[in-house]
This record gives sequence, structure tokens and C-alpha cells, in this order.
Amino acid sequence: MKTICADMRNNIDPELMALAGSIIRRGGLVAFPTETVYGLGSDALDPEASRKIYAAKGRPSDNPLIVHIAQFDALDRIVSHIPDAARALADAFWPGPLTMIFHKSEAVPSATTGGLDTVAVRMPSHPVALELIRQGGGYIAAPSANTSGRPSPTEARHVYDDLNGRIDMIIDGGPVGIGLESTIIDLTEETPMVLRPGFISLEMLRSVLGEVRMDPGLHADDPAFRPKAPGMKYRHYAPKSPLIIVEGEEARVRAKISQLVLEAEKSGKAAGIIATDEDASSYTHGIVRSAGTRSDEITIAQRLFSILREFDDLQVSVIYSEAFDTPQLGAAIMNRLIKAAGHQVIQV
Ligand code: AMP
Ligand code: MG
Repeated sequence: MKTICADMRNNIDPELMALAGSIIRRGGLVAFPTETVYGLGSDALDPEASRKIYAAKGRPSDNPLIVHIAQFDALDRIVSHIPDAARALADAFWPGPLTMIFHKSEAVPSATTGGLDTVAVRMPSHPVALELIRQGGGYIAAPSANTSGRPSPTEARHVYDDLNGRIDMIIDGGPVGIGLESTIIDLTEETPMVLRPGFISLEMLRSVLGEVRMDPGLHADDPAFRPKAPGMKYRHYAPKSPLIIVEGEEARVRAKISQLVLEAEKSGKAAGIIATDEDASSYTHGIVRSAGTRSDEITIAQRLFSILREFDDLQVSVIYSEAFDTPQLGAAIMNRLIKAAGHQVIQV
């Protein structure tokens, strides 16, 4: 299959957008920018189209897709009941990086929800995403546009590297603004529950709803205690070489990483380091990349996945990363990093 690459970095091209919409309506696949990461879109109400997404990504079929809408009223057709909490959250955070889980209606095929009787819905804020949803018929199922298991794409070239030749079109909207997937909140639970941390923090959700809890399965090391979002159980976001996080007081972290990198180099192995603007220049060995600055935590979110991909190309034998327990985004950043590291964390 020839993949069409559409450049919409500066403005929405009306002809190419009409083509993208018709590809979706015909059951094809279009990758597009959102404010979180790039998504791989298809008609959410067409089971065959959803199956194509699983095939293109190599995604396990029990891992449900998020349905993207462009207006609140679109919920009526796809969910069986809209709780008051959904209206309050939509007023505060839609369009934006928040996904809500509802009981689904008959209109949503089980191929889209991985066999579940619930459906995940989000209204993105990116203008290209909103226009594609409108032109594509109003309901676009879209997981992150990466090969399953690889870091989520934050630039169109990441999508190209993973999916060129396997999908109909890639819309390039430039680098994304947030860089981490949406926060997921489950509204089918008695107390609303966060299934995946993201840009919209627990505190922000509590300021609207009052009581909100975190899925206890997110932090459990016990494999019998599963996270409720099926996708959170997989080893996601994984770079090709082992990744190890070093956590603790900043000077001790730097000393430990320096020591580990020297040991690796002595045994003939190239080592990568994920640091920050504040201390990247203090490492004298290893291939150092700064994720961003601790004083502006969004920069770390924006660059993290891209750096993990870059280390794949550099073919290092091991990567050591500082921990990024920053105030608002720390929970979301560390959730992704710990999964990428397969839970390998050294405390100093
Ligand atoms: P992605 O779009 O690649 O970021 O993945 C979507 C995430 O949403 C995965 O972790 C899914 O398991 C989760 N998800 C989607 N639908 C549901 C649902 N109905 N219930 C629980 N989690 C869901
Ligand atoms: Mg994903």
C-alpha cells in the first residue's frame, strides 16, 4: 500500500482533508496529530475498519480503542447513559487531553471496544483532529499511531518509521504539544477512577468532581493485581535496549549514573543517559540526552518518547535515566518511564 503524506504543519489543506475524510468513511486508516500524541484513525462504528487498526499496529485484540468525537452531543449515539460527572468534566476539560469511560450503546461494535461493554471517548483540541473527525463521519477510533510496544509517536516521522506502507495516509501537523497520552477516567465505577495518569492530573479532576481515586492496579507490583485499562498491563513504550531508572537525591543520582556508565564503558558497552537541561553537561561519559528542564515540566513530557526512539537508532547497550517526579506531570511521566524500564528502578 502506498501511504500518502499530507503536510498540514502550517494550515489545513482543504482538498487533502476532504480526501482524508473520505478514506475514513470508506473504512481506511489515517494517522493524524492530536495535542497528546499522533493517533491512527478509522471509522469507530465500522468493525472491519477497527480490525485494520489492530492489524496495522500489531495490537493485541483485547486492548480497546478510544473513540474521538468533535462535539459533546455525539455521545448520545455511542453511550447508553451520560452521567452528570461527564458534563462537568467536559465543561472543564473538553476539548482536551481527557478520556472518559462510559457504558456503550449498541452502535459501537465490540471490535472497537476489545469485547468490553464499555467505551472510551475523548474530544481532542487539535484543529486538524477536530476537522478530520467532522469530515470522517463524527466517530474516529484512534489508538496511538505506533507499532504496538514502541514509544508513542510525537512527530509525523515517528509514524512514518513505524507504519509507512501499512496505512492509507499520514497527516503531518508538526510536533505535538503535550507528548503523553490522555488521562483516562472511568465513570462506570461508583467512585470515578483514573485508569491512566496524563496531563489532566488527579488534583484537577478532584477540583471538578470531589472524590476521585487512582486504579490500585496501576502501582501494584503483584501481577495478579491487574490494571483495569487492558492496555496498561502491556510492557509499552519500550526502547530496544534495557532502560534503568535511578531515583533519589539529585547529586547522588548523578554520581550513581556516572559510575554505572563508566562500568558499562569499561566492559566495552555504549551507554545512554537521559538527564535534564540543568545537569546534562555534568556527565563526562556516555551519550547524554536532555529530556527538558525541571523548571518547565511539559518540556520533559514532550521529548521523552522521542528520546527513547533516538536511543534505538543510536544502538546503545543500556540506558540510564534520572527520575522526573515533577509537580503536575510527574505521575504521568513516571508512569510511562517505569513501564518503558520494565520496572527496573535503582534507589540511591
Ligand atoms: P492508546 O489509544 O494507544 O493510548 O490506548 C488506549 C488506552 O485506553 C488503552 O490503555 C486501553 O486499554 C484503554 N481503554 C480504551 N477503552 C477502554 C475501556 N472501555 N475500558 C478501559 N480501558 C480502556
Ligand atoms: Mg498506545
